[in-house]
Amino acid sequence: MANRTHLVVMPGDGIGPEITAATLSVLQEVDRLMSLDLSFEEAPIGFEALKKHGTTLPDSSFEAGKRADGVILGPVSHNDYPPVAQGGLNPSGEMRKRLDLYANIRPAKSRPGLPSRCGKPVDLVVVRENTEGFYADRNMFVNTGEFMPTPDVALAVRKITRQGSMRIAESAFRLAMQRSRKKVTAVHKANVLRVSDGLFLECTRTVAKRYPQVEYEEQIMDAMAALLVRDATRFDVILATNMFGDILSDEASEISGSLGLAASVNAGDEHALAQAQHGSAPDIAGHDRANPTSLIGSTAMLLTWLGERRSDPRFTKAAILIEHALDRVIANPETRTADLGGPLGTRAFGACVAAALTA
Ligand code: ATP
Repeated sequence: MANRTHLVVMPGDGIGPEITAATLSVLQEVDRLMSLDLSFEEAPIGFEALKKHGTTLPDSSFEAGKRADGVILGPVSHNDYPPVAQGGLNPSGEMRKRLDLYANIRPAKSRPGLPSRCGKPVDLVVVRENTEGFYADRNMFVNTGEFMPTPDVALAVRKITRQGSMRIAESAFRLAMQRSRKKVTAVHKANVLRVSDGLFLECTRTVAKRYPQVEYEEQIMDAMAALLVRDATRFDVILATNMFGDILSDEASEISGSLGLAASVNAGDEHALAQAQHGSAPDIAGHDRANPTSLIGSTAMLLTWLGERRSDPRFTKAAILIEHALDRVIANPETRTADLGGPLGTRAFGACVAAALTA
């Protein structure tokens, strides 16, 4: 496998197997066109793995992902899993934590011909810290950040570190430098969380000073939720701690068009994982109705990450080809999926995007 780029595909639950299959059909075609020399390996997670291996994230699947050049992770129904002691691990949280995928990059971008919910084209990116914050299931070394000192008191610890805040701020400013508007908005609640968001802002301001070409502003989380609805076009890169970033990115994707379009990549210094922003959509699973744009777009982001890391323009170009193909297919109402009012199923949509790569 010396020069090959090895990708591990974890189909997941609900619509996961359908959208990963459609994504693979696009990837195989772009591989053929751009001679990327990709190899693929499927690794089970979720209910399929629970049945076969007694856990929703078998060690063999995690190790395959760790060895790979990149991972494509389908959505998972982790809310329905049994307790951890009975094998119910959240594959998404575990992969982020164990591979130190600290940056969750979540673009919200309107597609041509598909109006955004605010009437104007939206093009912003939420850069969300991915390993600490309010996420009690992954923010501690041993056990979780949630506990009950008495049967009637439940506590959750929010963890903010200097290292975590500095590196996510760096990611946001580096990304802003690649974009035409060059603006970063740091989101916080330092008026209430004075110590923890105080530390977060101290770090974002330190990093901001290193990037004088980037406009920097701060917004309080609740005001930010309202400002996004009022006019999402005033934002470029939104820098946020874990939970605030999670909430704002769903809001931003909905405003930009639909959750079914929402791509994301989870990146660290050594590993990257493509993952749609949405969940496993059990209400439409198995009906060939899901929109795979989210995972196809996430995979394009993974190719961009690989291209930058290796300074290999083939990967960057492949990602641009996929993005243009998605734009072309979604622009035509006759080649949209049901969530966007179109007639195509998941498989047919994937085939259309693959065909549009050569257009
Ligand atoms: P989970 O429990 O896994 O989070 P959920 O249904 O609570 O699942 P989502 O999966 O995010 O949450 O789905 C929210 C809504 O958006 C559902 O009605 C779902 O059908 C729809 N949806 C999500 N993803 C897609 C998609 N790719 N294509 C079409 N509709 C989608």
